[in-house]
Amino acid sequence: MSSIIPIADLRTASPLDAVLRAAAHAPANDAGPLVDTRGRALHDLRISVTDRCNFRCVYCMPKEIFGRDYPFLPQSELLTFEEIERLARIFVDQGVRKIRLTGGEPLLRRNLERLIEMLARIGNLDITLTTNGALLAKKARSLRDAGLQRVTVSLDSLDDATFRAMNDVEFPVGKVLAGIDAAAAAGLAPIKVNMVVKRGTNEGSIVAMARHFKGTGHIVRYIEYMDVGATNGWRMDDVVPASEIVRTIDAELPLESADANYVGEVAERWRYRDGGGEIGVIASVTQAVCRDCTRARLSTDGKLYTCLFATDGFDLRALARDGTSDAALSNAIAAIWRQRADRYSEIRSAHTVPLKKVEMSYIGG
Ligand code: SAM
Repeated sequence: MSSIIPIADLRTASPLDAVLRAAAHAPANDAGPLVDTRGRALHDLRISVTDRCNFRCVYCMPKEIFGRDYPFLPQSELLTFEEIERLARIFVDQGVRKIRLTGGEPLLRRNLERLIEMLARIGNLDITLTTNGALLAKKARSLRDAGLQRVTVSLDSLDDATFRAMNDVEFPVGKVLAGIDAAAAAGLAPIKVNMVVKRGTNEGSIVAMARHFKGTGHIVRYIEYMDVGATNGWRMDDVVPASEIVRTIDAELPLESADANYVGEVAERWRYRDGGGEIGVIASVTQAVCRDCTRARLSTDGKLYTCLFATDGFDLRALARDGTSDAALSNAIAAIWRQRADRYSEIRSAHTVPLKKVEMSYIGG
């Protein structure tokens, strides 16, 4: 009989898979709490539920690359809801307390509410989601009913022309604002509003954004434009440093710094001196946030990444589809976390920026 060559496996085979398989079958290491080589616990899991998006944000999924011919993953490659739930349970056993569903655009994944219901049943877990807001007005209530607790909405400008130019699909600001209102009405609060700041593109929207959401209870989080993936043509000159963002807002709406809510919180918190609420800045380029990073990421096709800037991941899906027991999967996840040494933002340099990093839409933003 001729042997069958599994082409897909050959294409995706990675040296990490051997490490993963060995870890799954090694004796369990129950020595104390699960921390990596730098003492960081495993607390957050981001799950990318689709690599597709209905926006083509110029800094994330530029049209020239993610066009009609882009090879998005076929359905069979995606983790099923049952697979996601199984892995999520195992991650929770290993200490994860917060799951963020993301992508791509997570609201494009059909019946996402069913997955949320399944995850909510795990218990002891904060479940949230990041969305571009395009479908939020329609879905906020059903997401809440399914057990979603909070939502983060991306919105890069209140100026319609600027926003349309950034999402590159002519999507209007008004519809995202309607999505935010619907989410608030459904009780998905406090709502965080993510704004990626790119020099020369939307820095003029920084203060208007703060002013608009001040006093609403929603928290604007300004994100430094990052060198994620390999397609956005990132240059350091395009980054508006978080310190400059804070100075710009403070000049018009006085701010004071606030303590982090918990160790490993991505955003640095600032509150309005007049009690009008707070903002956050995510300075992942100018102030490395690696030291306290407690996040793991599960890609759309089930690879485990221990850093947003990784070039390769551990194929948990292959292991799960091979009949591996929950105990062995748990063992593998723990072993991977124990050997984790990532600190990309601390060592970012002219040599690391051109690395063939995986795309954010696939790994989960
Ligand atoms: N589609 C959803 C959305 O738009 O929120 C979820 C996925 S998106 C990749 C998650 C977040 O990553 C968004 O807030 C987006 O603005 C941010 N993001 C994408 N590319 C980025 C980059 N190069 N630098 C900083 N943030 C980025």
